[in-house]
Amino acid sequence: MQALPILTDTEPSSPRKPDWLKIRIGHTKKFHGVRELIHGSKLFTVCEEAACPNMAECWSRGTATIMIMGDICTRSCGFCNVKTGKPLPLDKEEPRRVAEALREFSLKYIVITSVDRDELEDCGAGHIAETIRLCKEISPGTRLEVLVPDFKGKAECVKTVCEAGPAVYAHNMETVARLHLQVRPQAKYWRSLDTLAQAKRNSMVVKSGIMVGLGETPQEVKEVMRDLADAGCDLLTIGQYMQPSRRHLPVIEYIHPDQFRAYKELGQSLGLKHVESGPLVRSSYKAETQEELMRNGALASA
Ligand code: SF4
Repeated sequence: MQALPILTDTEPSSPRKPDWLKIRIGHTKKFHGVRELIHGSKLFTVCEEAACPNMAECWSRGTATIMIMGDICTRSCGFCNVKTGKPLPLDKEEPRRVAEALREFSLKYIVITSVDRDELEDCGAGHIAETIRLCKEISPGTRLEVLVPDFKGKAECVKTVCEAGPAVYAHNMETVARLHLQVRPQAKYWRSLDTLAQAKRNSMVVKSGIMVGLGETPQEVKEVMRDLADAGCDLLTIGQYMQPSRRHLPVIEYIHPDQFRAYKELGQSLGLKHVESGPLVRSSYKAETQEELMRNGALASA
């Protein structure tokens, strides 16, 4: 069990990247088409904001992750490259703009995510729900997953988003209980689990995601997977943490692909219906495949 070092600019950066994290990016015609559409619609994507290694593959498959409610977050997670500060007022036209862009994109699957807006009474739940409703109305051919904040645990906010009817309700635990304070200081482990349990009670397909390589032990990963299964979580993604800059938490360890395979087997044996686990896996990676498997009843609990 390794404690995380305190964050300073002089902190040594992460260890050398192993070969399994070195990828060749091929841009297809579809990729360029999606990129043009996204840039033309002035939408933010997590894909670009986080320089996601899977962007070429996902956009070529016609899926992307749109970020709404601005690019300034009220929180300061130690792994995240999004700006922290005082967000600008919500853009009331954004829900319709996103929905009209989706109609133009005619993508089959979209993940809508957002920064945290703790300064708002409903933490932005109403804005997210309006975006879902308009997207379903204006672009009925696109299936929607939402990756949302913990809404400070407010059950009415979770209900507001669930009632808008996304295909999948996701909220990331990001890491194990012991590392929460350092990795996501404004979040609470049990509060995040509780919001997932609330979404399950609202008849949602529930999903979460964690990163590994921050100093957690395999036993601690087993515990967070068990807690997620107990909360009613169906889908889980597990990926390697990568340090966005020296100002962010260092990588403690590059986890071997064999360990990712073991986590997948373990997670599904604990009752999670599907675990997408691998060094380059991110929250929205192959999201459309997981949702389709759930919808077709192809994923039975262990
Ligand atoms: S709440 Fe989300 S967007 Fe905000 S800093 Fe944390 S991970 Fe980044």
